Amino acid sequence: MFCSQCGKPVDPSSRFCSACGATISAAAPPPVGSYPNTGQLTRPRYNRMIAGVCAGFALHYGWNLNLVRILTALVALFTGVGAIAYLIAWVIIPEAPYAIPAKGL
Ligand SMILES: [Zn+2]
Repeated sequence: MFCSQCGKPVDPSSRFCSACGATISAAAPPPVGSYPNTGQLTRPRYNRMIAGVCAGFALHYGWNLNLVRILTALVALFTGVGAIAYLIAWVIIPEAPYAIPAKGL
């Protein structure tokens, strides 16, 4: 790895750059195979039933996907608000990118 301050190669096990003395912060890479959590609520391109709104909320907040779908369906059936809320969420929540975003984006 390289120093973020001076760009010189540094020992990853050391905490400071030997050339300029800058603190080396090793950002932990995300676990391989995990859903790319960018902090943004998105509609995933898989696991979707209509537009992926339920799957998006379930993934983002760690909820049970089937529970989210059942609750959404119940709210939509009994109040009529759920269908409108679903349509609004469909428009507002962006679709998840096809691939894992490049580092730094
Ligand atoms: Zn340095």
